[in-house]
Amino acid sequence: MRTTLFLILHLALVSFAFAQVPSTWQIFSPNSRLQTTVQFQDGQLSYTISAYGKSILKKSALGIEFLETELNNWSTAVTSVRSFKEDWKAVWGANKNINNAYNELAVLLKNGSHNLHVQFRVFNDGVAFRYVLPAQPGLASINIRKEKSEFAFADNLKGWWQPKNFNTDEQVYRTGMVSDIRNANTPVTFQRDNNIYVSLHEAALTNYSQMTLDKYGDSTGLTFITDLVPWPDGIKVKLSNQMTTPWRTITITNNLDALVHSNLLVNLNEPSKIANPAWIKPGKYMGIWWQMHLGAKTWFEGDSHGATTPEMKRYIDFAAKNKFQAVLAEGWNKGWKERKDFSFTESYPDYDLPELAAYAHKQNVDLIVHNETSSDILNYEQQLDSAFALYSRLGIHHVKTGYVGQLKPAGLLRHGQYMVAHYRKVVETAARYQIMLDVHEPVMATGESRTYPNMMTREGVRGMEFEAWSTGLTATHNCTIPFTRMLAGPLDYNPGIFDLLYRNADSTKLRTIVLKKPQGIVRVHTTLAHQLALFIVLYSPLQMAPDLIENYEGQPAFNFLKNATTDWDESRLLAGAIGEYALMARRNGSRWFIGGITNESGRQLSIPLTFLKPGKTYTATIYRDDVTTTYANPYPIKIEKRKVKTGELLTVKLAGAGGVAVEITD
Ligand code: CA
Repeated sequence: MRTTLFLILHLALVSFAFAQVPSTWQIFSPNSRLQTTVQFQDGQLSYTISAYGKSILKKSALGIEFLETELNNWSTAVTSVRSFKEDWKAVWGANKNINNAYNELAVLLKNGSHNLHVQFRVFNDGVAFRYVLPAQPGLASINIRKEKSEFAFADNLKGWWQPKNFNTDEQVYRTGMVSDIRNANTPVTFQRDNNIYVSLHEAALTNYSQMTLDKYGDSTGLTFITDLVPWPDGIKVKLSNQMTTPWRTITITNNLDALVHSNLLVNLNEPSKIANPAWIKPGKYMGIWWQMHLGAKTWFEGDSHGATTPEMKRYIDFAAKNKFQAVLAEGWNKGWKERKDFSFTESYPDYDLPELAAYAHKQNVDLIVHNETSSDILNYEQQLDSAFALYSRLGIHHVKTGYVGQLKPAGLLRHGQYMVAHYRKVVETAARYQIMLDVHEPVMATGESRTYPNMMTREGVRGMEFEAWSTGLTATHNCTIPFTRMLAGPLDYNPGIFDLLYRNADSTKLRTIVLKKPQGIVRVHTTLAHQLALFIVLYSPLQMAPDLIENYEGQPAFNFLKNATTDWDESRLLAGAIGEYALMARRNGSRWFIGGITNESGRQLSIPLTFLKPGKTYTATIYRDDVTTTYANPYPIKIEKRKVKTGELLTVKLAGAGGVAVEITD
């Protein structure tokens, strides 16, 4: 009651306008560097954004076209403003201490008895807006025909994007100008000169379909319009009597570190719904996985079955000895031979889940239970409770899900509203059973890990598996994803392959050959030092060392993965250029880990150790490309120890597709 009264009094104080008379409102970021101007004229709402004295988005229209036509016309707009500020601590993250501060402008559009709220929030590192349709008389269902939010760039910026795809984000990034982009999946990254970076994405995708971007038919070629992933009948979103859209986010920073470490997305999500998150822990894992991708083992039972009890025990022993927290087994459960009707509780006879769980837990290692749904959603949802209850009884806290193949029910798209709801249902169910999730073939992250911190990591990236059975990845790709895909949230890329040229693999079984895919050179397309560095550069609270035990055992370079953590107090991008190189430093307590990677061009990287505490001497263990290391000769790695102090500059030469990884201890 008090809230309602406050709202009425507040609204009475602010301006409103009738049609034909343009009304304009301005709102600034807390530090005044970003500015959004919102305008209402002739029933049309629009906005512009400027930052650091430059126009970023010119006049961009807003609106949603509903099947319910009474919601398509708005005659008046009234506004209210408020400011908000909080500090909160994340359960895990690249940085755990997070500041959330913004100024908000809420526009209330009215037409007779109908209301639509459009909320704008301006942060120091970006702008976000969303539409809220509250329950109102006579409104029994809501069907969205089209969301018409525009992003009209003022200038033809450089961009990095994946083409629009309603089913996958496992694509190669393209580079060009805004005017070259026909359509895109988000996040998509833009660069204005060398000092302003922009990323378009969304936050808090909860009960809606994913946003992609299309080009709007204006002559400049600089205007994007949202294109939502549809239902089979073409309707984009179906709701009952109220609607809260995801936030449309325009992250804007004046340096790459601030872009990569922006907390805009998590800040736009609700606080954690998990009251006691003590069971949620970052960690490293290994597992029975790469051998199937290489073709050496099978996912199903038989002579070459990968996931057997003795083999899993060997992996658990190796993980325990090397301070890894979890072990994954794929192909442990019934359904793999037929690739359908998977059971998530019944093991193959040669894999004893309860025994392995007990065996692992005795050594402080957890199992990661793999649930390959084969995209048969009803089959998975029917078993979800009983499966998670079983894992919970066995004390297991990790599940990796997968969604390969054609979606069932047929006609649905992986990034549509039905699947967004499904993924959310799995996260909520997992939270009830104290299970952390790693989702493959997911819908893109939108900051929901704040609300459900058991949503640890996900794929949604062209990752290591592509090196096993396709023309593979490139070092340029690896130098692009920290500035594009990683802006959405943690990514399960699976870096850390040591046998880069598959010297120890049976070449006749390699799936690239077996599947007769168009081949480049079948290999991992970087040096060994680059693989170590990716473990630090790419952020994931669950990070996999994916190679076989045989390829790690006795390798001095493995000490880096053994000592590395995935639990960070702070992270800093020390240097980088999108698609060219990235140099990342992350701190856990008093230890620092540094990863530097380069594209196909060799380069010298200078690592300024300004972040070390004064007056202390640290030991740096440096893993770098040797003088003989090249892309064609990727194995040699030079490991050296040095005493270092704050302010020193470590200078390291990287081979083409090379890297450097450093552990610094006090
Ligand atoms: Ca995949």
